[in-house]
Amino acid sequence: MEKASENKLSSYFVPLTQDQIKNEDENIDYYDEYCKLYVYNLLLKQKIDELAVEKDRFQKRLSNLEESLSNGKKKRHRRTADKIERHYTCPICGKSYGSEASVNNHVKLKHS
Ligand SMILES: [Zn+2]
Repeated sequence: MEKASENKLSSYFVPLTQDQIKNEDENIDYYDEYCKLYVYNLLLKQKIDELAVEKDRFQKRLSNLEESLSNGKKKRHRRTADKIERHYTCPICGKSYGSEASVNNHVKLKHS
C-alpha cells in the first residue's frame, strides 16, 4: 500500500485531468490525497521561491534604471559654466568664481 503510493508520487507532478479528478472523488484515498497535496505544496513553494528571486532581479534592474534616469536628469539640470554668478575674484590673476571656497581652491592649486 505505501510502496504503491510512493511509486505514484512521480505521476502527481502532472496535473490531473477533470476525468481523473471525478473518478477519484468516488473512492477517496486520504493517504493518496495527503501525498498529492504535499507534493503540490512543495511545487508551489518552489515556484514561489523562484518568482521571489525573479522579482528581486527585476526590482534591482528597475532601481538601476531609475537611478540612471535621475542621473541623466541631474546632468541636464546642472547649471552650465556661464550661468554661474561669479562674485568672487582671484586677487592674483583676476579669474572669477561662484564662491569664496572656489577662489581659495583655485589660489591653492594655481598660485602656491
Ligand atoms: Zn588666480
